[in-house]
Amino acid sequence: MDKVNILGVRVDMVNIPQAADRIMDFLDEDKFHAVFTPNSEIIMRAYKEPEFAGLLNRAELLTADGIGVVYASKILKKPIRERAAGYDIARQVLANINDTGHKLFLFGGKPGVAEEAKDKLITEYPKLNIVGIRNGYFGNDEEEEIVEQINNSGAELIFVCLGAPKQEEWIDRYRSALKARVAMGIGGSLDVFAGRVERAPEIFRKTGMEWFYRLCKEPWRIGRMMELPKFAVTVVAKGRNYQQD
Ligand code: UDP
Repeated sequence: MDKVNILGVRVDMVNIPQAADRIMDFLDEDKFHAVFTPNSEIIMRAYKEPEFAGLLNRAELLTADGIGVVYASKILKKPIRERAAGYDIARQVLANINDTGHKLFLFGGKPGVAEEAKDKLITEYPKLNIVGIRNGYFGNDEEEEIVEQINNSGAELIFVCLGAPKQEEWIDRYRSALKARVAMGIGGSLDVFAGRVERAPEIFRKTGMEWFYRLCKEPWRIGRMMELPKFAVTVVAKGRNYQQD
């Protein structure tokens, strides 16, 4: 699989259907696979924290979430054609597993969100096999019990929606304890499945302006978004120092 090294983070050059196909292959393999969808903010964190970069690079699939990452790949002359956001990949996977019987676990969101997401998903994908749910608010002492709940459910695929970097850290911490074949860190997707949060209209997504839409809707994100210009400057200044192979 072709990949680009962006400030020390491997990003696989796949579009949404290709990412979903990889996940279907992972579900057939008898081992654990982590799927992360780094955006520019996450890559900046990895750039500053080598341990976090190592954690990301352990994932079996890393897709470009966000226009910043797509532009970075172009600057580095290994162009990714379009973003492959976690939500979109998850949608494609849901369509693929609607009638395969694969066991899905929904983990994350405020209390009540996973239940609502489950109900909505079942109306949309009537044959979907959702074997368990768990909200995303817990103390450290509850983590093992959550792993046990997920393992006991027989889940093969877990949607982990704790926001970044919590979800990536959680998935990596439990990669050898989890019996599932795939865990995907997909941020606020359960809120969208539940109908509590709306996605940016397509025109914003297609034109790479989703960040602007979200900023208008959720102005408190401004601090986090200031990482985007820093990311662009860092990729231009330092991006070529990283080996591409
Ligand atoms: N969340 C959670 N547990 C936490 C913190 C956050 O389950 O301890 C959930 C939160 O309810 C929301 C999602 O994680 O559903 C984060 O959504 P956001 O859109 O902020 O994701 P990001 O942009 O960080 O990927």
